[in-house]
Amino acid sequence: MNNFPKIYLSPPHIDHLEIENVVKALKSGWISPYGSYIQEFSSKLSQYFNKKVLLTNSGTSALHLALKLAEIADGDYVLCSNFTFAATAFPILYEKAIPVFIGSEKRTWNISPEFLQYAIDDLRKKHIYPKALIVAQIYGMPAEMDQIINICKNNNIIVIEDAAEALGSSYHNIPVGALGDYGILSFNGNKIITTSQGGTLILPNEKKYKYAEKLASQAKEKADYYKHNEIGYNYASSNILAALGSIQFDKLNKKINKRRKIFNFYLTKFKDKFDVEYQMEIENSIANRWLSTFIFPASLNKKIKSSLEKNNIESRYLWNPLNKQKVFKDFPYFGNSLFENKLFNNGLCLPSGDNLKEIDLDKILAVIEKNI
Ligand SMILES: *Cc1c(COP(=O)(O)O)cnc(C)c1O
Repeated sequence: MNNFPKIYLSPPHIDHLEIENVVKALKSGWISPYGSYIQEFSSKLSQYFNKKVLLTNSGTSALHLALKLAEIADGDYVLCSNFTFAATAFPILYEKAIPVFIGSEKRTWNISPEFLQYAIDDLRKKHIYPKALIVAQIYGMPAEMDQIINICKNNNIIVIEDAAEALGSSYHNIPVGALGDYGILSFNGNKIITTSQGGTLILPNEKKYKYAEKLASQAKEKADYYKHNEIGYNYASSNILAALGSIQFDKLNKKINKRRKIFNFYLTKFKDKFDVEYQMEIENSIANRWLSTFIFPASLNKKIKSSLEKNNIESRYLWNPLNKQKVFKDFPYFGNSLFENKLFNNGLCLPSGDNLKEIDLDKILAVIEKNI
């Protein structure tokens, strides 16, 4: 161990502007789901996506609302990314629907359009017609959305984008999150911008927005007394979270530029040393490079991870595919598990926070190079 402060994977980056805004929100007395920062932050996001948005208290709750709005219910089939964080799929189980996991392609590591088509064709033979797809834009990398959306259109499947990690990424000049019927963002502490906890649901129209807003606030019907006709949720955001988010959002471009620079730093250094594999941007897409992720030869990732740890530097393995998790393992899976296991077995997420200093990057690199 040494005396350097710990280098984290993707820590929040908060300075005086955020602190001042949160204090202002507290002093205003509006600390619940109402207040001027809610309007300010939502209108910035809504302009950016050119769609209606609803601020929520997490990305997971936004995803659950998207499924409710897509009318997913008990026994419905929902196609879902396999190589992702478990939160992408949990809301399917909240509704007692059945996830069908779709494997990754090798360029973006996101859903493979081929496996998607294969799954739909195979299910059709059993007279199963999935109602929706949740496609995760992993580590901020845009998926092959043209093909994915086309396949879904041809089969009457609602597209929900899990853009929790992908705020600021774009595909054919459209912001990721606004490509599908619904999109969600997360503002958890480690994401590209944060509100401590929080998220956003991106919606297709005013009507859906109104309904989402109602569900998120305990499904109160319009009346001057308490009236509830259906199950509601406590999923709304707060004015304090929005005060934090509004300032963070103003810094989005700076944050993305920094994260992309960090990724390019690692890539340039690794390229000469070994056969490096990484997520590739497809034509006309821009990744925010939320996390810099690499596949290392053999099982070097384990050695590298433990020497980083000894030097007080955090790194993480890539997602453990969902079809291998106990909670999901009995559901159907269509994909190339060899490839996804390789991502899990040989990959590593390296420190990518937008407050990393050059001296930190040099230190991280030195530790890694000692192991290669
Ligand atoms: C973080 C994350 C979520 C969940 O967001 P929360 O705000 O933590 O609820 C969902 N999907 C993916 C891919 C994520 O990375």
